[in-house]
Amino acid sequence: MYDKNNVFAKIIRGEIPADKIYEDDYALAFYNIAPESKIHALVIPKGEFINIYDFTENASTELQTGFWNAVNQTVYKLGVTEFRTVANTGKSSGQTVFHFHVHIMAN
Ligand code: AMP
Repeated sequence: MYDKNNVFAKIIRGEIPADKIYEDDYALAFYNIAPESKIHALVIPKGEFINIYDFTENASTELQTGFWNAVNQTVYKLGVTEFRTVANTGKSSGQTVFHFHVHIMAN
């Protein structure tokens, strides 16, 4: 079950700060607080989805399209052309925040 008090839900609600890169009606992108590469951004949809399964199965087509467009916009804002995207899914994969997110990493 989705935990409304996870750290990314709090960032969307403005309850804790984030170093924002891009934001629109569908998604928010910000810098990772503990970067694992020179550039390390996170993109999260504005909705309550635990992981990529939940997002793909339950988010509206409009939100899914908006989210992936926001990933693209974030890449443009970061000014990179070569990068890695990661969506950890489940504890054993390394997922620690259970609000669906995509990592964008570049060096
Ligand atoms: P994951 O391990 O895929 O669930 O990724 C969660 C990521 O969120 C980790 O890389 C954390 O460093 C990052 N993170 C946790 N809290 C914050 C925060 N308040 N602001 C930015 N990034 C965060």
